[in-house]
Amino acid sequence: MSTRPELKIDGLIAELLTLGQISEANLPVVTRVVFSEADMRGRAYVRGLYEAAGLTITQDAIGNTFARWQGSHPELAPIGTGSHIDAIPNAGLYDGCVGVLGGLEAIRVLQKLGYKPRRSIELVIFTSEEPTRFGIGCLGSRMMANVLTPQQAVALRDKDGHSLDELRMQAGFSGPLESVIAPKGRFHQFVELHIEQGPYLEKQNIDVGLVTHIAAPASQRILIEGEGGHAGGKLMPGRKDALAAAAELILALEAAATSTGAIDTVGTVGVCDVFPGAVNSIPSRVMMTTDIRDIDRARRDSVLDKLSAVCAEVAARRGVAIATELVNADPPTVCDPAILAALEFSAIEAGKTCKKMVARAYHDSSFVSCIAPTAMLFIPCRGGVSHRPDEYASPEWIGSGVHVLARTLAKLAG
Ligand SMILES: [Zn+2]
Repeated sequence: MSTRPELKIDGLIAELLTLGQISEANLPVVTRVVFSEADMRGRAYVRGLYEAAGLTITQDAIGNTFARWQGSHPELAPIGTGSHIDAIPNAGLYDGCVGVLGGLEAIRVLQKLGYKPRRSIELVIFTSEEPTRFGIGCLGSRMMANVLTPQQAVALRDKDGHSLDELRMQAGFSGPLESVIAPKGRFHQFVELHIEQGPYLEKQNIDVGLVTHIAAPASQRILIEGEGGHAGGKLMPGRKDALAAAAELILALEAAATSTGAIDTVGTVGVCDVFPGAVNSIPSRVMMTTDIRDIDRARRDSVLDKLSAVCAEVAARRGVAIATELVNADPPTVCDPAILAALEFSAIEAGKTCKKMVARAYHDSSFVSCIAPTAMLFIPCRGGVSHRPDEYASPEWIGSGVHVLARTLAKLAG
């Protein structure tokens, strides 16, 4: 592109607000759970914007939506961009939506400049990036990558017992779930614009972050069974206190995560349910969860191994039973150097400051990276706040992201 794109950021901000109003709550609160009435209305609104931009829309059996700007070589694999529009309860306006509507704005800017892509550009809305309804995040992209198989997907239910199959059909997404699986090379390259959801860019006063790695969690459920009894009647020798055992595990996880010496290793126990949970009763059972994340799989898994060893040792020493169940252990993502180079070059051309960084939360890009070279572009969000109604990205920040994305898409599409 030789001309500087004119960004109609006002229009984009108005669209973000309109989409935010399509919610199960009133602004500034945004709640848009997958396959809810709000989700369906939100999708319809965005599809209308796609149609107005002359994009061709297709949807797969899980509701992933693809809006295609046909290139001069439609037989070539497209350049992908996009994100999600579902929102957890009590969320804000920008998570995911900036990548979907910002991607659309990038396409409209290029259209206005008279740019004709060689490869087609496809803008994706991934179904259910948030785990709210089915307890598993990045549902649509995970299924495209076949990391969640159709057989595993049909077993999913929401808290009311409705199956994923029933709910997607009701939402109008039919066809075999096998057809969601995308072949390797489905996209030639993929780039996702997203708010940082952390404080780094704002603090450092940097316009855009170039994501080199996306961390991935390994999460476990740990069930500890000891022996209950009266808190007064049963003396200390020979006790099998499940919560005391859990306390050892929590501290062992903290020590193991710290001991790697890497800033990117983190370990958390976020749930610890104690039974029977009475002041005068020795805890007989504890269910706790662990979440261990890193950008290096081997290092992350070494923390898991250390914790397993501690589980065995504590179980033997305290005479309690400890059962661990691995809920998921997805691979961390290494972003594609060629896309990162295009992003960096675009940022420099656009006169924006940029810095390489790590994404610490899950994103659809984590799974798209299994089928195509992928990278992410972050913009700041105020105070690092996300998943809250006061989540905020300024029009300037969003404008910078869209500007860099538009230039990058043009470079990648050729
Ligand atoms: Zn998101």
